[in-house]
Amino acid sequence: MFELYNSTEFETKYTYTQMDLGAAWSAEKTDFRLWAPTADSVQVRLYKNGNADTQDLLETLDMTQDVHGTWIASKSGDLNGIYYTYLVQRDGTEVEACDPYARTTGVNGQRAMILDLNSTNPEGWENDKDPNYDKDITDAVIYELHVRDLSMSEHSGIQNKGKFLGLAETGTKNLEGLSTGLDYIKNLGVTHIHLLPVYDYGFTDESLPLPQYNWGYDPVNFNTPEGSFSTDPYHGEIRVAEMKQMIKTLHDNGLSVVMDVVYNHVYDGEAFCFNQIVPGYFSRINADGVWSDGSICGNDTASERNMVHKYIVDSVCYWADEYHIDGFRFDLVGLIDVKTINAITSEVHKKHPNVIFYGEGWDMPTELTKPCELTIQPNSPKTPAFSFFNDTIRDLLRGNIQKDTAPGYVAGAPTPKEVLNACFMGMPAWAANPYQCINYVSCHDNHTLFDRIALTAPEASVADRIRMNRLAAAFSILSQGVPFFHAGEEMLRTKPDGKGGFDENSYRAPDEVNQFCWENLGKPEYQKTIEYYRGLIAFRKAHDILRLKYRKDVFNCVEMIPCRDSQVVVYRVVGNAQDIFLIFNAGTESVSISLPEGNWNIMIQDDIAGTDALSTVNGSVDVTPISATVLTQEKA
Ligand code: CA
Repeated sequence: MFELYNSTEFETKYTYTQMDLGAAWSAEKTDFRLWAPTADSVQVRLYKNGNADTQDLLETLDMTQDVHGTWIASKSGDLNGIYYTYLVQRDGTEVEACDPYARTTGVNGQRAMILDLNSTNPEGWENDKDPNYDKDITDAVIYELHVRDLSMSEHSGIQNKGKFLGLAETGTKNLEGLSTGLDYIKNLGVTHIHLLPVYDYGFTDESLPLPQYNWGYDPVNFNTPEGSFSTDPYHGEIRVAEMKQMIKTLHDNGLSVVMDVVYNHVYDGEAFCFNQIVPGYFSRINADGVWSDGSICGNDTASERNMVHKYIVDSVCYWADEYHIDGFRFDLVGLIDVKTINAITSEVHKKHPNVIFYGEGWDMPTELTKPCELTIQPNSPKTPAFSFFNDTIRDLLRGNIQKDTAPGYVAGAPTPKEVLNACFMGMPAWAANPYQCINYVSCHDNHTLFDRIALTAPEASVADRIRMNRLAAAFSILSQGVPFFHAGEEMLRTKPDGKGGFDENSYRAPDEVNQFCWENLGKPEYQKTIEYYRGLIAFRKAHDILRLKYRKDVFNCVEMIPCRDSQVVVYRVVGNAQDIFLIFNAGTESVSISLPEGNWNIMIQDDIAGTDALSTVNGSVDVTPISATVLTQEKA
């Protein structure tokens, strides 16, 4: 049967291109359209409630076969708030499935809900927009956060713990009176909050009083917010309204919102509604019935098939249009074809040129249903509106991912200068241009930066480990490309595993492992490190020559200064009004570095960073052990 889907004849006959799949509500009627080319007959079942265990069928509507494998039905009256499923008959079997185009669902995503989307809009939504709409991707500073991590601690001062609305609370403080939550993030100076999955995912039971923690890389309904983040998962409109309220509040506070999207696989390949309705069409399954598993999650999405391609493009456009999402982070985008990614970026950019796109362009083994090119790092020239996580700079600074105890540059590992230089210039071997590099030294995956440093520098003092953390931050935030960091990196976040080690994969660890420790916020080493990150971000924002988009600009502006010390690299970035001189010293001794002619203002030194000159020097400057020194010079 899967072979049938691969034929040109099938694709030609059954490719539907219009935008009306799903349930289109109006006050007068609701129109349904479902793509189910292999079905013998289909009905819509209408229910009073969204809980799949409730016996409350209101009515069954027969659907009529229409063009290109679609089925249609219509019902007059105002159906806002009515739940529905599709009942699909095929070869004597019958399945009941949620709508792949569901706009919201009842608890745990089993029944779709018909929704008047306008009724979920917060006040002022029509004027809401990306606060950074006029900026380039290289102007972004991205902060990667799980909704629940920010608020769960009893010391967060946040009322709506673990909820979308927890991110929309301002004025929250810990017991010492220090700002937490949204105010805290805003104060860092980051521009984009990147949220770990907020679409409906499967692991977490939304009906529990305290749902289990999960990162959410297990999609169930791609076009619906996750119910456990809403204050009422039983009423579908609430999760939509609360997610929009969160986005509106973040926008009002100057923060853009990036959504983590996981189109490369689903929670359960067999049970996924699209695969229930059109068996196996959504996934890569070979002629022997073997499911491709490049995702290591049991199934890979067949993005190269026409109606999967359309589904993913429609879904991303929907989040951008309806929820005003400002950026998309694609999980394992190396499993998705280049054509689909380019269709997404061009479609979204027609209406929202501000939206940024990036993802994990790793090369994973996947069995395609037909030949196509995949969105992997070396294909960056073919996806000009899409950027990639820069694992080159990550491994360089914190150590090779394959071995937990392998030190990186900041922990004193001998490091080839040509790799440091390429990373500082935003030009690792695979990148077409600097703007396509998402530079990072920590994300939700693997150990936190501070834990990794502890593992790779076990003999170093805590003070020296903090120096290593600062050095990694300085190098990655001041390099050409787009800075990104895991929330809490700036407060030395750690994830102890309770056994004397560290949790490197806390995807379903309890809140105690994952939550922000707001009670520690006042500790001097926390405050000092947070201030340092804030200073780095402010410095980057103040200098456009640190935010170059293209290779040719970097070649014109960035100069590598020879330095004999193997653990020291020196760069000069030449601007029209100012030059910047940067020295990174991973050695455990101070070094004296000669400066080009004239007076230089020290802006970043030892444990201080910012936009105010600390002192003025000429001739040479001393750089303390394991630290960065950055100076500027005004042009005459
Ligand atoms: Ca869910």
